[in-house]
Amino acid sequence: MLGTGTPRPDPERSGPATAIIVNGTPYLIDFGPGIVRRAAAAYNKGVTALGAAAAGIKTVFLTHMHADHTAGYPDLILTPWILGRKKPIEVYGPEGLSDMTKHVLSAWKIDIADRVNGIDRLPRSGCRVVVHEIKPGLIYTDHNIRVTAFPVRHGLKHAFGFRFETPDRIVVLSGDTAPTPSLAEHCAGCNVLIHETYSQATYEKVSRKWQRYRRAHHTSSGELAALAERVKPDLLVLYHRANAGGALTLADPEQTLLVEMRQLYRGRVVAAHDLDVF
Ligand SMILES: [Zn+2]
Ligand SMILES: [Zn+2]
Repeated sequence: MLGTGTPRPDPERSGPATAIIVNGTPYLIDFGPGIVRRAAAAYNKGVTALGAAAAGIKTVFLTHMHADHTAGYPDLILTPWILGRKKPIEVYGPEGLSDMTKHVLSAWKIDIADRVNGIDRLPRSGCRVVVHEIKPGLIYTDHNIRVTAFPVRHGLKHAFGFRFETPDRIVVLSGDTAPTPSLAEHCAGCNVLIHETYSQATYEKVSRKWQRYRRAHHTSSGELAALAERVKPDLLVLYHRANAGGALTLADPEQTLLVEMRQLYRGRVVAAHDLDVF
């Protein structure tokens, strides 16, 4: 888990970013702020597949265009290149990703030109990005992994969750979403379900406007428990826990959420922290 946070700049939690590592190859999902530094920390802790300075990350999937999931993009494109990545990265994500990529490269064009033509003589290929704007369905396959994108309900025209089929485990990542049938369908047989959620206790403390927002765009502990009861993953990993407003007034918002979950769901459930490995 390279980032388990939300838009709130919690120093303990980087913006959403998750790596799935199969046979030594990393696959990154989302690039919230802090992604490259968290990847470097994971590398230092022994997750060497990520490469020094995140230079091992070549294949990337984006759930949706919200800033908490994308604000690490220039860092992901530029920093590993400056520190040694020679090949382009391939990024799969919603409509709008091409445009965002073009603008990021354009915004940093002075630095890029200097590093290519100046004393560094870096290969331009290392800061190239091959963008694939995706539609629901099978979006990626190689000898390690099959990746299926499915639409989720998050108020944007395009927002996805992903199902990853690897030789030993099926992992489903919700992205940001309210409950939706397509997510439940794509969870069939999954071993690990990584899912966003907010606690009822924090919900009750935010304003009616924010309550409406959460109901429309996110998943409550009760709703997630109902999904998990149906899907029965070996492991349910909670991340992107809403911590706005109400959570700050609770003594231990994470424990509050876990207690709520365990009242309604008997399977194995953990609250993820940055740098956790499952
Ligand atoms: Zn988010
Ligand atoms: Zn979002």
